Amino acid sequence: MVSSPVRINPAPTPAYICPYDRTCSYLGQAAVELDLDDNVLVVLQQPRKVVTVSIPVKLDNGKVEVLAGHRVQHCDVLGPYKGGLRYHPSVNLGELSALAMLMTWKCALLGIPYGGAKGGIGFDPHQYSINELERITRRYASELIKDIGPETDIPAPDVGTSAREMAWIMDTYSMNMGRAVLGVVTGKPLSIGGSKGREMATGRGVMITVREALAEQGKSLEGAAIVIQGFGKVGAAAAQLFYEAGATVLSVSNVHGGIYSENGLDIPALQAYATQNNHDITGFPDSEPISNAELLTLACDVLIPAAMEDQITEENADQIKAKMIAEAANAPITLLADQMLEARGIMVLPDILANAGGVVVSYWEWVQGQSFVFWDEERVNQEMEHLMVQAYTRVSELAKQRGVSMRLAAYTLGVGRVAQALKDRGLYP
Ligand code: GLU
Repeated sequence: MVSSPVRINPAPTPAYICPYDRTCSYLGQAAVELDLDDNVLVVLQQPRKVVTVSIPVKLDNGKVEVLAGHRVQHCDVLGPYKGGLRYHPSVNLGELSALAMLMTWKCALLGIPYGGAKGGIGFDPHQYSINELERITRRYASELIKDIGPETDIPAPDVGTSAREMAWIMDTYSMNMGRAVLGVVTGKPLSIGGSKGREMATGRGVMITVREALAEQGKSLEGAAIVIQGFGKVGAAAAQLFYEAGATVLSVSNVHGGIYSENGLDIPALQAYATQNNHDITGFPDSEPISNAELLTLACDVLIPAAMEDQITEENADQIKAKMIAEAANAPITLLADQMLEARGIMVLPDILANAGGVVVSYWEWVQGQSFVFWDEERVNQEMEHLMVQAYTRVSELAKQRGVSMRLAAYTLGVGRVAQALKDRGLYP
């Protein structure tokens, strides 16, 4: 049994608990479920390696600015480190450590042979030109040249980055190695070994998880009322797939604002509108404006936070009227809010399950790159569907068997796999 593991808050107070301590707290609960040895737990609580590099960049106006870039590598017991690269002003080492740990459990839960990592630069990419972003990304990649690699640590897109940044990293790494290295990043453009289906993968995984959860309750996506916070890479893809499945997408939002339609939004038309208006979705025909706070508390079948951390908090958890929440973003619910939702019987499909479709297709992309054999989209989607449904079923069965939340069941499975591997490998030296 766990005595008093470091940095775990056994009786969380209403005070804010940072994402890292929150993730450690869920780890601690899983450790109790697994009756995990303290000696294993103390290892899993800490990232294995944290790298911070200085990124001097010559701006277009000739001035030099120095940014701080990070990569947190939490655990590589199961295989190479894997995880996104985030460009956002809120990036800090605590947040990245939490996100890196989430990647470890996510990969383990899905049964893919990766560990967990997360990288980031704390700046607002929208304030920089494309040329500046290219210099920043290439310098970040070259500073980390010894820490990343197809068998070492494989970055992917996250908040504020996309296939474009992955292409720059792939090129920088390849130029340094003297050969094209496809497997160093995933989420690349198709022209350099990206996988078909990767762009929609996280959204598709969210749709699959929600579909499975509704099916268990005897419901279907057809006519289900969906609300999505975030209309970016994940939220927009999920909205499209829910729309195609016959669900009613009542409301979506992004940094520009939110929109609502009682009869459901025409998602393909909204996508075209967003593209035309530089991602601004406000003013979309036949919709009403809605604030972020109102959106989160709309009555609906499924609420999907697909933006940033800490969106559902102790402030608004009582007002949530959704019957189910699917965490398309990583860590969008605070620790106390999670307990409040559980007490109210609102089912939460946790991030490490609901948004795992992205890293699953990243894995298929890496497999294709390493083997130089490329698959059609149907195969990618089928393989992903298989892993997602399998993971959902295992989590749901364990949750029922033990009478615990879907989150605790997911952690128990993910942490359990890593702990077993750690025991089998033994502690070096
Ligand atoms: N950034 C995504 C996540 O949080 C994808 C990571 C990956 O594909 O490696 O899951």
